[in-house]
Amino acid sequence: MKLEPGMLIKTNYSGPYRIVKIKRGCTCPSYVDSINSTNPKPQPPHIHLECTDPDGSDHFCLGYFCEETLKSLWKTCCGNKEELDYDWIEILDNDTPIQLSLF
Ligand SMILES: [Zn+2]
Repeated sequence: MKLEPGMLIKTNYSGPYRIVKIKRGCTCPSYVDSINSTNPKPQPPHIHLECTDPDGSDHFCLGYFCEETLKSLWKTCCGNKEELDYDWIEILDNDTPIQLSLF
C-alpha cells in the first residue's frame, strides 16, 4: 500500500504518527558515510517522512525506509531487538478519510 499524507502509521519502535509530507526517490548517502567520506556513495532509493502526532502536534522526521517493503535500509537494534534486524513501518487504521492520489 502506498503511503499518503494524512495516514496514521507507526514504526516497530515508535509512534503513532500522522504523515504530513513524503519525499520519495531520495538517494542521499547515509549519515555515517557523509561524515566519513568526501564523496559518499548514494543509497538505494528511499523515502523520508515528515510526521506529527496523530492530533497534529509536534514534528517528527522518519527516513531511510524503502516504500515497497516499508522496511528500513539498514538493520538496527531499535525497539529492543536482541539482534540487528530491519525496522518497519506499520500502517494503522485511519480515523479520518484519506484522499488517495491515483496513479
Ligand atoms: Zn534520503
